[in-house]
Amino acid sequence: MKKVAFYTLGCKVNQYETEAMSELFSSAGYEVCPFGSAADIYVINTCTVTGMSDRKSRQIIRRAKKNNPNSFLIVTGCYAQTSPDAVRQIDGVNLILGTQDRKNIVSLYEQHSSTMQYSCVSDIMHTHDFDNLNISEYGTRTRGYIKIQEGCNQFCSYCIIPYARGPIRSRYIKDVLEESKRLAEKGVTEITYVGIHIASFGLDTKSEGLAELLVKANKIDGIKRIRLSSIEPMTLNEEFVNKIKDCDKLCHHFHLSLQSGCDKTLERMNRKYTTEEYYRIINGLRTHFPDAAITTDIMVGFAGETDAEFEETCRFVKKAEFASAHIFQYSKRRGTPAAEYPNQVSPQMKERRSKIINAICEESKQSFMRRFVGTDAEVLFEQKKASGYYEGKTGNYQTVLVQSDEDLRNKYRTAKLIEIKNDTFIGKLVK
Ligand code: SF4
Repeated sequence: MKKVAFYTLGCKVNQYETEAMSELFSSAGYEVCPFGSAADIYVINTCTVTGMSDRKSRQIIRRAKKNNPNSFLIVTGCYAQTSPDAVRQIDGVNLILGTQDRKNIVSLYEQHSSTMQYSCVSDIMHTHDFDNLNISEYGTRTRGYIKIQEGCNQFCSYCIIPYARGPIRSRYIKDVLEESKRLAEKGVTEITYVGIHIASFGLDTKSEGLAELLVKANKIDGIKRIRLSSIEPMTLNEEFVNKIKDCDKLCHHFHLSLQSGCDKTLERMNRKYTTEEYYRIINGLRTHFPDAAITTDIMVGFAGETDAEFEETCRFVKKAEFASAHIFQYSKRRGTPAAEYPNQVSPQMKERRSKIINAICEESKQSFMRRFVGTDAEVLFEQKKASGYYEGKTGNYQTVLVQSDEDLRNKYRTAKLIEIKNDTFIGKLVK
């Protein structure tokens, strides 16, 4: 039996796709083995969101060939889609597959397994079919991702993703619900709906949207928690929240990418909201879901960002009081409008600004966590740490560690949140 190993870079969508490709190989009779071992086939699911992701993708491709020089190397994902020529030039790459047609990965391998090199990167910008990959189980894990949507039509001026993933394409709601039921029957109790731009779900198929999906998924037996991956801020307006507010399984964690807290910078980024509109949205969410964790992405050092603009961002971020934030330094992506913008910011200035914003966000995170000290929270425990503590997540995505004689893996238990250590709660199980 031939052995196949996978390596995933990047986002939850990539992780979902790797899981689905792994299932296609194992159901075709291949043995899935760890990446570090000598496999006959390696599948590298790449990312291109920043310059660093490209470099990391190339490193992993080379490492796979080192693991077994006689192996067959398949490179797929966003870097392969946007830079197939660069991938072609890496020694030992045999099959290049972009971000489409992965459902055919096994037959493509079997057709070309004796070919030195074959590339089938489709013209993603004119693709309108959803590449229907799906997953039938998550092994013993009780948490799972389900991909509901592909592509993005937003074209934020700094972002390469629309050129890697193409226009929006939604999965049919019935397929998503069927996969949710199937996973629930296999013991998955927490589902995260992922996509490149999940706010666009249903727009292209002119069918029901994300709110309708959540209302229907909320009725599925066996599902205890439903999470949303990163979502376009303006989606979560009053009308949307009114539709979903009775979904008792929806976790109160909303990741709304802000990117900048300055309207001038947002305009240059081609983001589709102002700071005032963004603030209204997060306040609306906090009114309906008082324990909600609002998390975000902030980009520092965007082309043309002046000291005054950056200070405006700092003031807004302080006012927004995020539960946590990912801080990114702007990374020029060839082929995006912003890469040609004047007044690019120096790496030293980006470093300085990310430190400043990080300190503001760290304080907001601690102040958010302090609100929950002494309260009880339901936790889904996932793993046992080397320290002997069990680690899990609350509904609003807080990490909790508890001690227990009982094996708590994949179990829900209520814990009293006793104290904060770094970014984690130390808790005590409530009998
Ligand atoms: S919304 Fe903007 S940042 Fe997000 S994937 Fe689309 S273009 Fe990129």
